[in-house]
Amino acid sequence: MKKVEFLIIGQGLAGTLLAFEMLQAGVDFKIVNSPKKSKASVVAAGMTNPLVFRRMTKSWMVDELMPVMKTTYRKLEELLSDLFYFEKNILKPLSEQEKELWLERKNNPEFDAYVGAVLDKSPNKYLTEASGYGIVNGSGYLNLVQFLSSSETFFKGKGLLLESDLVLKNDVVSFTDFQIENISADKIVFCEGYHVMHNSVFDFVKMKPVKGEVLEIYSSELSEEYILNKKCFVLPIGNQRFKVGSTYEWKDLSEQTTAAGAASICECLENLVLVDYKIEKHSAGVRPSVIDRRPILGQHPKHKNIFIFNGLGTKGVMLAPYFAKEMLRFITEENHILSPEIDVQRFLA
Ligand SMILES: Cc1cc2nc3c(=O)[nH]c(=O)nc-3n(C[C@H](O)[C@H](O)[C@H](O)COP(=O)(O)OP(=O)(O)OC[C@H]3O[C@@H](n4cnc5c(N)ncnc54)[C@H](O)[C@@H]3O)c2cc1C
Repeated sequence: MKKVEFLIIGQGLAGTLLAFEMLQAGVDFKIVNSPKKSKASVVAAGMTNPLVFRRMTKSWMVDELMPVMKTTYRKLEELLSDLFYFEKNILKPLSEQEKELWLERKNNPEFDAYVGAVLDKSPNKYLTEASGYGIVNGSGYLNLVQFLSSSETFFKGKGLLLESDLVLKNDVVSFTDFQIENISADKIVFCEGYHVMHNSVFDFVKMKPVKGEVLEIYSSELSEEYILNKKCFVLPIGNQRFKVGSTYEWKDLSEQTTAAGAASICECLENLVLVDYKIEKHSAGVRPSVIDRRPILGQHPKHKNIFIFNGLGTKGVMLAPYFAKEMLRFITEENHILSPEIDVQRFLA
């Protein structure tokens, strides 16, 4: 039996970033990832948008999250000798009313880093008519498939990743340690994405998972200069391929793609651009969203050697680097207190 201090359960975005933090801090751990369960991270478009267009506000904590996000992915690109984070401006077609609000924000120094110029004319002939086209600065995307597969190779190469499914029984009075195959650990961190809904130890956590579908299309006509965003997004990923999406569905959490999902994405795409395109891929996944839309970090109220890092919701790419650091501090520094807004204990109040 090999003994380690921590098991990380799940190698999606949450588990992977926490594992890199632990590695850097010299914490003794192994990752356990189920080969059978789905992974939202590999379906996600990976887009990062610092703004919430509906009210033209900044995304929650964006000024703190953005710098940590960028330096973390750049450092990991160096470590893994790979490229997966790309900066790209978003172009948002605007109505007359939205244009007014955009220009108002542009004059507000608080928005300097994110709200760019408004173009009066469309930068390419395929975009449908609008009163103006607002440019978002500081946006981009993470190629999650590339990042997670590079990370998997890295952790497997170091003997730190095990493919298995871990289930805990809730009727145990106290866990002295956790065993899986030939590994045993004193402590465990669950980074299970929406599958935490089936983890009886965390049955008090109020998740509100959201299924999403995404298309990958080929179009020789579409410009790759900007990420387009109006009701749906069109994200250039290279070689005239684009991710287009996504849908939001709360009732059907089946993880299957649907004809209705594809049709609604195509309709949105065709309202945005007039181009020929071919659908090359159609995927579905379930976002680990939470009723109060905040990440979940912390310690189990009864079992002090069980932890959780989850709730990355719709904005995992921006949230995960910052909160993986916060999670590491919480589990390694004795007096580190979590903000009540993100602490798992909030569900007991
Ligand atoms: C359609 C769609 C579009 C999205 N677009 C974006 C976007 O543009 N930008 C953005 O920032 N975010 C986006 N997201 C959200 C993003 O995918 C999530 O926030 C993030 O990937 C969640 O990561 P996670 O690690 O918490 O969960 P997951 O990626 O689901 O990973 C959980 C992992 O845990 C493993 N696991 C679970 N239970 C066990 C167990 N008991 N034992 C062993 N292993 C286990 C699973 O196998 C899986 O590998 C999108 C999501 C979807 C579905």
